[in-house]
Amino acid sequence: MSHLASLWTQLIAWVSTHLVEPAVVFLHIADTAGNPLEISEALLIALLQLFIIGFIFRPLETLAPAERWEERGLTRIDRLYTLLMLLGLFPLFSYLVLTPFANMLGGLGGGTDAGPAVSSGLKHWVPWFEDHPYLLFLVYYLVYDCVYYWMHRAQHAIPWWWALHSMHHSQRQMSCWTNDRGSYIDGVLQSFVLATVGLAMGVEPSEFALLGLLSELVQNLSHTNVRFGFGRIGERVLVDPKFHRLHHMVRDPERPSLHNCNFGQVLPFWDMLFGTALYGEKIRPTGVSDPMVDADNDRGLVGQQWQAARRFWGAVRRPAGWKLGEVSFGPDYAPIPSDEAEHLPARADTGPAGGAPAA
Ligand SMILES: [Zn+2]
Ligand SMILES: [Zn+2]
Repeated sequence: MSHLASLWTQLIAWVSTHLVEPAVVFLHIADTAGNPLEISEALLIALLQLFIIGFIFRPLETLAPAERWEERGLTRIDRLYTLLMLLGLFPLFSYLVLTPFANMLGGLGGGTDAGPAVSSGLKHWVPWFEDHPYLLFLVYYLVYDCVYYWMHRAQHAIPWWWALHSMHHSQRQMSCWTNDRGSYIDGVLQSFVLATVGLAMGVEPSEFALLGLLSELVQNLSHTNVRFGFGRIGERVLVDPKFHRLHHMVRDPERPSLHNCNFGQVLPFWDMLFGTALYGEKIRPTGVSDPMVDADNDRGLVGQQWQAARRFWGAVRRPAGWKLGEVSFGPDYAPIPSDEAEHLPARADTGPAGGAPAA
């Protein structure tokens, strides 16, 4: 393990010296860009994540698909979302928004040039955790994941938030690339919620990055189009592809509340605790039944972002956009409670791309 760790450190140093430093000098941003070692570590983590998705999760979709697709045309836009997120938007956002936000809240307790580390958050309240860093990390993770669960419930229950989150759900071909498909307004909102929790608890930036990477990988796998799960016990410990695929099911008019399930990000525990866990259901087509949202499938990235923003604006300025419950979007993007929207035309079909279960 220590050999692997020293290899990782050497790799970071090599990328920093040979790529990052020349690049920041060339771009004349050496003074503002921050520590080149940190930049190269972030870059390597992004590449590692892409490698795991592209060379492990993607081949699994060919070997053991949950749904068989004639062609994978609709997954292409999701791959674009992932590449953009990992190589551009996320680092930019962390650098331009989250770091200043962290500094504004009074620092993270990490040591700086100006002085030694100061305990903050949990470590400040329970000094015992200073000596038990692994347990502390576990507690951070539990809180982070629990907040994620409730935020995700809110994304489905508050119509203006569903207006944005529905874009993550509109895909008909859910694959290893789908996790990063989503409205950027939603992404900013989510990041603020999760970063605030991290900062309030006193999570160090490096730990926060590790939290993010671990959850990202579990989420990339849980969107992967594979028919296996982690088994009867495993699926109750960690969110697996079967579990999250059920969260993405198209609303079944025969059982209209079945799809309100499996909101957990990494730990299904919260779903079991709060009564939203669904196990043992057969594989179902993914996507949304609302034709206004399903139309995302005919759009490119800019079009999808624009439509999600219009749905958001249609909902957030109306009282109906704040009334908890499931909605569809009517004319002028007005939210209409789903049980009153039955008369609206349904989504035409699952399309040639929404495949059949590969039983
Ligand atoms: Zn969702
Ligand atoms: Zn999802």
